This record gives sequence, structure tokens and C-alpha cells, in this order.
Amino acid sequence: MNNRNGLHIQIVIFALITSVLTALANLLVENIVGINVFSFGLWLIIPVGAVLIGMGGASGGFLACRYFNIMPSKLDAIALTLVAAFTMFLIYYMGYSTLVLDDGVLAKDVVDFGTYLDVVVTKAHMKVGRALNHDTGEVGSFGYWLLVIRFVGVLIGGFAIFASLKELPVCSDCDVYFKKIGVKENLQPNSDTAQTILDKIRSGTVEDYASAIESTGKGDCDVKIEFTLMRCPKCRSEMVTEEFFVKNKDKNFVAVKELNGKTLMPKDSIIPSLFAKK
Ligand SMILES: [Zn+2]
Repeated sequence: MNNRNGLHIQIVIFALITSVLTALANLLVENIVGINVFSFGLWLIIPVGAVLIGMGGASGGFLACRYFNIMPSKLDAIALTLVAAFTMFLIYYMGYSTLVLDDGVLAKDVVDFGTYLDVVVTKAHMKVGRALNHDTGEVGSFGYWLLVIRFVGVLIGGFAIFASLKELPVCSDCDVYFKKIGVKENLQPNSDTAQTILDKIRSGTVEDYASAIESTGKGDCDVKIEFTLMRCPKCRSEMVTEEFFVKNKDKNFVAVKELNGKTLMPKDSIIPSLFAKK
């Protein structure tokens, strides 16, 4: 099953299912609420909606990998990106095949898809301003640039799904994804106390590690460390990932990826008991 070079058909099938569902959801939201999520952009050109739609379209591939324990290959990455692009096509095609003109005639009975697309792309109006109250008028040929930008957006979204799969921790002995068992948050007043925790994490003894998890501060803290206990569903070996967050000047925690790490736990250690719900 885990051919690391070939194409995994399960990924393609699952991704195609979520692709159709994503396009349908986009159509439904547009018809009910009047907002086309796909065409939503920031500062006119950042295709936020297209990236989200690309991610939604390819998300089935993520589920398939987790479910079947597939480590995606480069071919899978291409497949996921293509399915994301297909989602964009579906959105336009569903819009075309369901559009009813003012006189009650179905648009698809009077124009072909190419003509429809040209009209949709060039005659679209862009809404700008904070309350979307300023209309720029028809976008004209700039619409094709928007189309290209959105196309790049969905590709990025599809690839992001692949990239997030590559981030998932894998048991190197069994070639399966670790399962998340529990999360424990540790707050530290300042960078000095956080350094003490980091030293304990890296000391290599289970006692120090346990104390790193347990010795959390209280009140207004500048550093947060998130411990996540993972277990291999096959050989049951255990691992804890450490993620660091520091408060910025707006008092929001931001990730400090350089400090992140993971530590394999010896068999039957006391560590899992620290994650038990109290
Ligand atoms: Zn294992």
C-alpha cells in the first residue's frame, strides 16, 4: 500500500469527492447568502477564497492518507493540486449549468460554456472598501488576470494539503501516522523560566521531562508550551511534540517554530499518565 513513488488511487477518489462537495457548498452559499466564497479576495488580488476552495477540494486526500496510512508521493502531490484546480472548474461549470436568466430560460440552453465564462470573468464587478460599498464597475480584461490569480490560489490550496500531510509525524518503524492522544498546555511567566523548561525537555531523562510538563505557571504568562502526546497505533511507541508560543505586543501568542521539537518516550513511562484527563 505504501508505494512512496506511485499514485494512490484512494487519495484521488477521496479528493474528487470533497472536490464536488466543496463546489456544491460554494454554489449553495452563493445562492442562499449571496456571497461567492471562491471569489473572495483581500486587497483585491490576494485570492483567499480560492486558496480555501483549493484546500477544501483536495481535503479528501488528507482524510484518505490518514485513514489508509498512506505516505503521499510526489505524484499524489500533483494529483491533489490537479483536483484543487478541478474544483475551480466545477465551480464555474455548476454556476453555468444552474444559471437561470431573467426570462426564465436556462443559460446553458442559449450560450456555450466558453461564452458564459467570458461574460462572468469580464463583466464581474469588484466590490472594494471596508463595507464592500464601492463598486469599481466591470472588471473587463483584468478579469482574466483575476482568473489566473485565483487559479494559482486553488493550486496553492491543493498543495497546502499535501504539505500539511508531510508535517504529520510518522512512526519510522511501522510507516504509519502517529495518533494524537492528548494535549497539555504549560504557561511560563517569562523567557528565563521557559528556558528552564527547554533545558528539562532536552536533558534526556523521563523525570526531567515529566517535570517540564507539570511545572506550569499561572496568571499573566508570556510563553506557552504545548505538549502533544502521540502514539503509534501499531507498535504503541510514544512520542511527545513540543510547540512554543510567545506573546507579541498585541498580547496574542505566536508560534516560535525554531524551538519546536519532539521526544520519543521509553516504553511504559509515566508520561502518558500526565496527559490523563482529571
Ligand atoms: Zn510504530
